[in-house]
Amino acid sequence: MRVGVQLPDGLKKKAFEICENLGSDVILSGESCYGACDLDLSLLADVDILYHYAHTEILKFGRVVYVPYFVDYDIEKVAERIRDIPEKEIALIATVQYCHKLSELKDVLEGSGFTVELKKGSERVKFPGQVLGCNYSALRDCKASAVVFVGDGTFHAIGASIYSSRKVYAVNPINFALINIDTSDFIKTRYLQVSRCVGLSRVGILVSTKPGQKRLNLALSLKKLALENGMKALVVYIGDITPEKLMNLPFDFYVNTGCPRISYDDYRKFGRPIITPQEFEYLLNLRGGIELDEIE
Ligand code: SF4
Repeated sequence: MRVGVQLPDGLKKKAFEICENLGSDVILSGESCYGACDLDLSLLADVDILYHYAHTEILKFGRVVYVPYFVDYDIEKVAERIRDIPEKEIALIATVQYCHKLSELKDVLEGSGFTVELKKGSERVKFPGQVLGCNYSALRDCKASAVVFVGDGTFHAIGASIYSSRKVYAVNPINFALINIDTSDFIKTRYLQVSRCVGLSRVGILVSTKPGQKRLNLALSLKKLALENGMKALVVYIGDITPEKLMNLPFDFYVNTGCPRISYDDYRKFGRPIITPQEFEYLLNLRGGIELDEIE
């Protein structure tokens, strides 16, 4: 049996150790692997089974096996940091590698007098409390007065704050740092990116070819809006969205319907503004302000 292996960047250096356990006929994907949205379909076509590591299923594909990768951490030390926050009604969220201990953390915190909300979101996520950079549905109808994100970095915590309109704290489960999340710089940056598009008329509407990011219908409706507003617009199919690939295209700015993190995290790399679908609608006066881009 021929086996394909897809690893995120953080695990690629362990490729030998991982592949050695899977038999002699193994092919490693050299493509990007930012999420389960990013399945290597080309490799899948040439193998009997594809092992996709460290993400949970987004789309059902036959012959694809998702292999979770959980990081262990000390619940008591994380709870100790959370006890410092003033709000006592909280919702817990985490990225996939830290989700497996949220229910235990909930019990510990409830034992200390907290009321804890821990809910599973839409079909795009698998575990209670799990969030993605493009999906915060675990916080839909959140009743808690604050949200605690367990994970590293602040990107997901900022997203959670904008999505839920709640106070958000981020606790790093490895070094136990507690960050009080402030979204103002993020919001300012997004308004700035939209303001750079004012008066521009040639728009490229990017559609990702990655299966879990492809939003063609959305792109077509945005193209229609662009044309109705006197712009010139083309829908562009693209895999990894990189400055090099966009360099020779004749657009003044881009609307990215693929992974929202490209617009939010990588916008500085691009010579031209790259905004989200919601920001494009705001540019066209169809929305009252900046809203988060979510893939359901
Ligand atoms: S679309 Fe982006 S944020 Fe969403 S799962 Fe894929 S890589 Fe993550």
